Amino acid sequence: MKLIIESISENESFARTVVAAYITRLDPTLEELADVKTAVSEAVTNSIIHGYNKTRGEIEIECSISGREVDIKVTDRGVGIEDIEKAMEPLYTTKPEWERSGMGFAFMEAFMDKLEVVSEVGKGTCVSMKKWIGKEQEGNIL
Ligand code: ATP
Ligand code: MG
Repeated sequence: MKLIIESISENESFARTVVAAYITRLDPTLEELADVKTAVSEAVTNSIIHGYNKTRGEIEIECSISGREVDIKVTDRGVGIEDIEKAMEPLYTTKPEWERSGMGFAFMEAFMDKLEVVSEVGKGTCVSMKKWIGKEQEGNIL
C-alpha cells in the first residue's frame, strides 16, 4: 500500500486512519492499533513540521504486511537530519520555540518493535518501522 499526501496537518489524521484500516486484516488489539496510529502520527508530524518546515511537500507512506509483521515507511524529501543519533535521543528537539517536547522518536521506538531512520541533509528522511501484531494473543495461549 502506498499513500502520498501533501504535508499539511489536516492530512496527518487521514494518514494514520488509512494505515489503521490497512492493518485490520491482522485483527490487531485496540492497544496495537493505538500504538501503530501514534507511531504513524509522530512520523508524519515530523515530516510536516521539521522536514518541510510547514511548507508544502509530499509525504509518502508505504505499508506492507508479511505474515504477522507490519512494515511502515514514512518518507519526505525535506531538509533531512544532520545528526540522527542525537535527534533520536528522548527530549531532544530543534524546535523548542514551537513547544515540541522531543519525544516523537522515543514514542515510535516504544510503540513499535523496530525503528530505523535514514536521512540525508538537503535530501530528506525515511523512517522505517516494524511491528509484530498478535503477540498478546500468542502470550495468552501459552
Ligand atoms: P515532539 O515530537 O515531541 O513534538 P520533536 O518533533 O522535536 O518533538 P522528535 O519527533 O523526537 O521530537 O524529533 C527530534 C528531532 O529530530 C526534531 O526536533 C528534528 O530536529 C529532527 N527530525 C525528526 N524528524 C525529522 C524529519 N522528518 N526531517 C527533519 N528533521 C527531523
Ligand atoms: Mg516529533
